[in-house]
Amino acid sequence: MADLQLTGAEPAVATDGVWLACIECGETFPPFADVRYTCDDCDGLLEVRYADLPTWGDFREDRRGVWRYAAALPFEEGVSLPEGDTQLHDVPGLEAETGLERLRVKHEGMNPTGSFKDRGMTVGVRVAKEVGVDRLACASTGNTSAALAAYGARGNMETLVLLPAGKVAAGKVAQASLHGARILEVDGNFDTCLDIVQDLAARGEAYLLNSLNPFRLEGQKTIGLEILEQFRDEEGAYPDRVVLPVGNAGNTAALYKCFRELVRSGALPEEEVPALTGVQAEGSAPMVEAIEHGWDHTERWENVETKATAIRIGNPVNAPKALPGIRATGGTAVAVSDDAIQTAQRDLAEEGVGVEPASAASIAGLRTLRQRGVVTADERVVCLTTGHLLKDPDAAVEAGSEPEPVPGDTEGVLAHLQG
Ligand SMILES: *Cc1c(COP(=O)(O)O)cnc(C)c1O
Ligand SMILES: [Zn+2]
Repeated sequence: MADLQLTGAEPAVATDGVWLACIECGETFPPFADVRYTCDDCDGLLEVRYADLPTWGDFREDRRGVWRYAAALPFEEGVSLPEGDTQLHDVPGLEAETGLERLRVKHEGMNPTGSFKDRGMTVGVRVAKEVGVDRLACASTGNTSAALAAYGARGNMETLVLLPAGKVAAGKVAQASLHGARILEVDGNFDTCLDIVQDLAARGEAYLLNSLNPFRLEGQKTIGLEILEQFRDEEGAYPDRVVLPVGNAGNTAALYKCFRELVRSGALPEEEVPALTGVQAEGSAPMVEAIEHGWDHTERWENVETKATAIRIGNPVNAPKALPGIRATGGTAVAVSDDAIQTAQRDLAEEGVGVEPASAASIAGLRTLRQRGVVTADERVVCLTTGHLLKDPDAAVEAGSEPEPVPGDTEGVLAHLQG
C-alpha cells in the first residue's frame, strides 16, 4: 500500500479529533459544522479522518456489533437497532468444491433490516442528528431505502426514498413502506435517482444518506473489523482475500479504509492485508472495466441490466476510493453472468445460507477466479454476502424448486411421495 493517505496533523477545523478531508486535493473541513458531501474546492470525495487511530485493545469488551468499535468511529453511540455482529459461516460443500485452504461466508443479511446498509445508517443517522437536519433522503436499489426507513423511524426523523420504478425487489419496498418512508418511484434507473437526490440535498431539501456520505462508510468499516477478528479467533490468522459484490463500491472503499487505519495504528501488518476482490454482474460492470483497463475512474454505463438488482449500478460513486483499494491490496475485479449468480445463490442455500442474488455474486466471482487460477488453492478466503434471501422473494422462487400439488389427505400425500 504505497500511499496510506492518512498522515497529516490535526487541522484547526477538527472537532474532538475528527475532521473531513478531500481525497483529491487534501482540503480539510469541520465534520459537523455544516452539511457537505463533496469538496468545496474540487468536488472530490470526502473521507473522515481521526487524530487517533485505534488498535485491537481499544475496542469495547462490553459491546457487540458496530458500536463495539466506537474507538474507530466519530461517536461513542448511534441510533442503533442494534446492528453488526453477523455470523461467519463455514460452507464445507463450497470449500471442498473450490479446493481452497479455507472458505468462510460473512452473512450481512443477518443485520436488523437484512443487509449491511444498517451498519452505515446507525452512524449516518447519528450524524444527521448532530448536524441538526430533519429530513433524510436516499436513492436506492432497495436495501439503502429499507435501512434508512428503519433507522429514520427509530430516530424519529422524516425519510424520503427515491427508487427506480419497477426495479426494486418486493421485500425492500415493503420494508421502506412499513417503516414509514415516503417512497418516490422515479421513471429512470438508480443513477438517475442518485442525480436527483444529490440535487435535492444540494438545495438543502434533505440530508443525503447514500454512500457518497462519508459517515456511512465509517459504519461499514466495521465489517472489516469483524471479519479480521472473527477469522483470527477461529483460524489463528487473517484471511488472504475478501470477495464482495460491488455496486456503488462503498463497501470496497470502507474495507480499504478499515485496513489502512489498522496498518497505520500498527494493529495489522501491511503484508497481512487481505486482497480486496470485487464482483459485478456482466450487464453492470464499470468497476471491472476500470480495473481491466488500469483506469483511475469509471466510465458511466447508461444501460445496465442484471437480476441482481442491488448491484444494478452504472456509475459507482465511490470508484475513486475503491479502485486504489483493489489495486493497493493486490486484489482484482471480475464480472459474472446472471446464470452464474443464480447457481451460486442456489448452492449457498443448499448449505443453509439464504442470500439475495447480488450477494451470491461473491461466490460466483470466486468460482471464476479459481478457474482462471487468479485465486490459488492455498488461500484463505472470506466471501461477503450482503443481503438476506427474503429481500427478493421472486428471485428465490425462480431459483428454487417448484411446489407439488397434493390431495388433502394422508393417503393421497403418501401415494404422491411414492409415485
Ligand atoms: C448495497 C448493496 C450492494 C452494493 O454495495 P456497494 O457498497 O454499493 O458496492 C451489494 N449487495 C447488496 C445486497 C446491497 O444491498
Ligand atoms: Zn478537493
